[in-house]
Amino acid sequence: MTSKDGYSWTEAQGLRAGVPSIGVIEPPTNVKSADTVYDVIVVGAGYCGLTAARDASLAGLKVLLLEARDRIGGRSWSSNIEGYPYEMGGTWVFWGQANVWREIARYGMQDELEISYDFSKGINKYLLSSPQGVQTFSHEEEDALMQSSLAKLVNVDGCLGRTVVPFPHSGVLTPEARKYDHMSVADRLAEIKNDLTPNERLCAEAFVLLCSGGTLETTSFYEFLHWWALSGYSYEGCIDYLVKYKFRGGQSSFAIRFFREALASGNLTYAFNSPVAKIQHGGEGVQITTRVGKTYKAAKMICAIPLNVLNDVAFDPPLAPGRKAAATTGHVNQCVKVHAEISDKDLRSFTGISYPHNGLLYGFGDGTTPAGNTHVVAFGGQHNHFHPEENLEHTKAALQGFVPMKIQRLVFHNWSKDEFAKGAWFFPAPGLLATHLKDMRARERNIVFACSDWALGWRSFIDGAIEEGTRAAITVRGDFAGRVKL
Ligand code: FAD
Repeated sequence: MTSKDGYSWTEAQGLRAGVPSIGVIEPPTNVKSADTVYDVIVVGAGYCGLTAARDASLAGLKVLLLEARDRIGGRSWSSNIEGYPYEMGGTWVFWGQANVWREIARYGMQDELEISYDFSKGINKYLLSSPQGVQTFSHEEEDALMQSSLAKLVNVDGCLGRTVVPFPHSGVLTPEARKYDHMSVADRLAEIKNDLTPNERLCAEAFVLLCSGGTLETTSFYEFLHWWALSGYSYEGCIDYLVKYKFRGGQSSFAIRFFREALASGNLTYAFNSPVAKIQHGGEGVQITTRVGKTYKAAKMICAIPLNVLNDVAFDPPLAPGRKAAATTGHVNQCVKVHAEISDKDLRSFTGISYPHNGLLYGFGDGTTPAGNTHVVAFGGQHNHFHPEENLEHTKAALQGFVPMKIQRLVFHNWSKDEFAKGAWFFPAPGLLATHLKDMRARERNIVFACSDWALGWRSFIDGAIEEGTRAAITVRGDFAGRVKL
């Protein structure tokens, strides 16, 4: 099946909107009666909504899952093109992420992972490209440079940030954490400007921007410390947790397991291509109206849509002021993620930073396609932001900014123009978490708000989405205590 989402380009086919995915659901709905009053309506079929819908339906609740798109997975989905899975959004998982690993074990997918890197071929080098030219390092030198630069960045306490974020899954921001949340990474870099070598500065800045998709000024220093703590307070941990292990069959091969299990319960009704426009939740239950005017009713609702689009839905009564303010501020991540299939086999083992001049700042060999070509993935963000489909020559030039390559195919999803995401993974500007984390997580009457964007642990990751979906289902099951399996 082909989703309306995503883009691909080849010389022969030109630019095409829409790419194939096993995450597209056919038929798009199994709603039988418009009069049914559900126990719970889940809005959003990303990992959070899928987890919530599955757990609630397995507990015996009558669940309706409403999703704006034609597919499951939200910001994590894959497109299989000529036998190779391109990850359009969320990609990497790790066994240290407890929620994600619980699900991988549940579906017996422990042996369906592969390692992105292969440091055994051709140009087995780290290429550090800046306006001053290109420097070449071994991967061992790359690791040492990244570790020393990030250690200087996070070392606010002589313990590499351990005293600031001792419990990275805690819901409480200590006074110290709040202090660092009000600080940007640019502020922190100003403090240590005399301690960093020019190369350390390049590496630290590019790595932070890879994580935030924002600018140095709009990146909360606390949230970077939080990622660092979750990754075991080391650069090696960051690589293991953030960019190493992915599904051989692509993310959609994982997400579809959640959907199928929910469906097999017999308690799941669903409707795709159903953007929700209005949510009324004044009285006993909830009434939801889609853009085309269909209405659905339920006793409870789980709202599993991202922060940056919450204000696009009309809530009656309106959202609580703190949540509304958080949504108005939004998160800052405008990551540009581009895949290229290239015929240069030698580039399978390169990693590179191309910064600060280039549109894509971090890239590396991510796989080998069935045709024997190299798959390169590269990331940009708000810093030098661009829309990859608008000017393909610019997009290709940004890829060439790492190292010359012969591009055969491009694949990407423009998350900035995506009306149901308005950005990539959550990353906060200074002050958002200290001011609004509690507001984002709060319940409003019969609505539980759940999303990776305000998870406590791996906030902004697939793991965080599953954490939140689990929390939401447990909360709603509690409302039906006595009637459902707890
Ligand atoms: P979403 O996936 O955004 O799901 C929300 C759903 O709500 C969507 O399906 C959306 O269509 C739907 N929706 C929105 N508005 C409406 C409406 N009005 N009516 C009905 N439905 C609506 N995480 C990792 O763990 N590892 C990674 O390597 C990684 N890399 C990433 C790379 C990119 C480019 C991106 C974009 C994300 C990445 N992430 C990664 C983050 C991860 O993808 C997300 O944190 C996670 O998928 C979010 O899940 P969610 O269910 O909370 O939200």
